[in-house]
Amino acid sequence: MADVKKEVPELECSNCGTTSELTPVITYVHQGEEKHVCTRCLPALIHG
Ligand SMILES: [Zn+2]
Repeated sequence: MADVKKEVPELECSNCGTTSELTPVITYVHQGEEKHVCTRCLPALIHG
């Protein structure tokens, strides 16, 4: 087996623009569209 390096794409929060490098970023789907939000913006998303 060759040394396969798994590349993890860096996700960007669609709300504040932070990256998964700094803050955990969660992927979710809304109205058929895949979106990303960091854990800091997630509460705001939940509360509308
Ligand atoms: Zn954010």
